[in-house]
Amino acid sequence: MNKKYQVVKGFRDIFPPESFLFWQAEKLAREIFARFGYAEILLPVLESQELFSRSIGADTDIVAKEMFVVPDKKGQNLVLRPEATASVVRAYVEGLAQKGSAKLFYYGPMFRYERPQKGRYRQFWQIGAEAIGYAGPGVDAELLLLLDLFFKDLGLKDISIRLNSLGCKICRPAYREALVKYLKSNESALCEECKRRLETNPLRVLDCKNEACKAVTKNAPSPSAFLCPDCATHFAGLRKLLDRQKLVYQLDDQLVRGLDYYTRTVFEFQAPTGLGAQNAVVGGGRYDDLVEELGGNPTPAIGFALGVERLALLLSEKISEAELLAGPEAFLVFSGEKAYAFAFKLLFALRAAGLFADMALDEPLRSLRSQLKLADKLKSKAALIVGEDELSGKIFNLKLLGSGKELKLDHETLQRVAKVDWEEMKSHLSQPGFVYAGKEYEQALVQNQGLLKLLKIYLHELERQEE
Ligand code: ATP
Ligand code: MG
Repeated sequence: MNKKYQVVKGFRDIFPPESFLFWQAEKLAREIFARFGYAEILLPVLESQELFSRSIGADTDIVAKEMFVVPDKKGQNLVLRPEATASVVRAYVEGLAQKGSAKLFYYGPMFRYERPQKGRYRQFWQIGAEAIGYAGPGVDAELLLLLDLFFKDLGLKDISIRLNSLGCKICRPAYREALVKYLKSNESALCEECKRRLETNPLRVLDCKNEACKAVTKNAPSPSAFLCPDCATHFAGLRKLLDRQKLVYQLDDQLVRGLDYYTRTVFEFQAPTGLGAQNAVVGGGRYDDLVEELGGNPTPAIGFALGVERLALLLSEKISEAELLAGPEAFLVFSGEKAYAFAFKLLFALRAAGLFADMALDEPLRSLRSQLKLADKLKSKAALIVGEDELSGKIFNLKLLGSGKELKLDHETLQRVAKVDWEEMKSHLSQPGFVYAGKEYEQALVQNQGLLKLLKIYLHELERQEE
């Protein structure tokens, strides 16, 4: 046997049905973004290393430890992007800034060299939005309300929101000074890394997951007490808007987020349980200095990123596999070569008409029993039996796989039914000629108007057979 290959550590294949969860999240996000006026930006996965060290900050986990560096042939270091805000801002400065403000969203993979565990991978997917060129708290509120709607529409009701304001370059220094003073007086209790951070990036200490550090930072001074009048007004304005919309959130003094570019509003959406230390599903905030930092004109902005793996984990607890993997509306079951040829034709006619139809295409041809088994395995709603009797007698013979009930129509009835409209068809259900399976069947028919289509196409193909 030849060598088998394995997926690279920390990376993974996302198989169905999990991939359906990703797709659901993406689909809903796209719908909501459209309603909120956010347009998609498609970005490259590779960027220059400097873009991130400059924006996220050299002393952050992401830049110091987690970057996937790809040396290019000219000796310049490229990286697989660890997040997309810096990319969006780079792209904005390069190609959009002259048009003014922009509301953008993206969906795609990010890469961080982290220790892989549940909800934490080296390649993961993010859905994100950025509103660039908006200073007031209105757009902050808009993004929080957008996310709230998104989670509610997905049926995730117990996601909590943590909110804080970090101030700006005017008020941050005083806060930083007070924080350093407090941390210095508790230095011996801090982990080695935080002792170092104390010198380089003291705010990051508040983000440390070490229990001893957490105990110290619990009583640290909070940035909200140091906000300058403008920042305080901005934060109060945001809270007023959210309160008016009756959005429930918790103010969290210790929330600083792990990236350097944040100013003023920061927030996280958290799952209650199930994800362990990885319970943050969304992280976001303002970055009013970043556009200028990356070569643009001073331009305020705010955004968020949502982790799709973590969202999929939460959704998988709510949605069963059966709900995700909707099977074919009709599975064609044939017997004999002639019926195979007919069913094959019918299959593509049904698909072309927009129905989810399937049949066993493997050779040697499967037995009837094995075809029915496959229909079950694929969770088909119904099996359309195409046998010699059905073809010669032009009979419609459908088996509902859930209940095992059958709908069998002779040729005359089939012709009649295929001509009637939907309402009439329902009234025909109790007429002679139907092997009528009662209420249950009627319900299935009402839910599945595709059946009438199926029946019409079947008849059409039967009749074409003779041409
Ligand atoms: P954490 O504190 O869990 O490391 P973070 O602050 O590094 O998160 P952000 O950079 O804010 O995360 O990214 C936003 C979201 O992306 C996170 O809330 C999370 O849902 C997701 N995310 C971040 N890193 C990973 C990862 N390695 N694997 C899967 N999802 C991730
Ligand atoms: Mg992280």
